[in-house]
Amino acid sequence: MTSYRFQDYTKRVRIGKIICLARTYKEHAREMNTVVTEDPLLFLKPASSVIFNQGTIIIPPMSQCLHHEVELGVIIGKSGKHITQEKALHHVLGYLVALDITARDIQAVAKKNGWPWGIAKGFDTFSPLSDAVLKEKVPHPQNLDLLLKINGAVKQSANTNQMIYSIERIISFISDIMTLERGDLILTGTPEGVGEIKQGDVLDASLGSVCSLTVDVQRKT
Ligand code: MG
Repeated sequence: MTSYRFQDYTKRVRIGKIICLARTYKEHAREMNTVVTEDPLLFLKPASSVIFNQGTIIIPPMSQCLHHEVELGVIIGKSGKHITQEKALHHVLGYLVALDITARDIQAVAKKNGWPWGIAKGFDTFSPLSDAVLKEKVPHPQNLDLLLKINGAVKQSANTNQMIYSIERIISFISDIMTLERGDLILTGTPEGVGEIKQGDVLDASLGSVCSLTVDVQRKT
């Protein structure tokens, strides 16, 4: 069982379910030739897909096209169901920056056929996570720069204030469906600028000056 790595929090917090949102930034929905929805769209990733800072994303033999998606991650600290928006942030333990790595070719086939995204999103190494920070150090999570560079060149640059749904609304909405448990992680969706990653690339992701993540990409041999 994998636990989070915190910058300065020594208690062990196991990584639970990873709940991901799709289409939470208008410009990303546009670049994917799709539309935003009134309620968030959810899918799940397995905790076994997690790697950490200085890890390696492995391109699986089943895919010819992996994409990067940089996202704000919200770690749940206090379990709850039917959480109101007013109380939502009380359930947060901390934040991190994450990459929601996606086998875009596999996802395209799934989308065309109306199939779920589990394969496209669920491979080992497809969820790189930075070291986490406690929420007390992040007074304005809805106003953080989200940045992704590949080999030093900026590919995604946005601010969490551009999200269509607030963090409070996302927590409340998810908790009306499934109990949010301590250690669960919400990946809040990616802004525009997604694109392909290739063998040998080095990815640098950051969330303002709060946290950062560096990983590289290798093909499975
Ligand atoms: Mg995503």
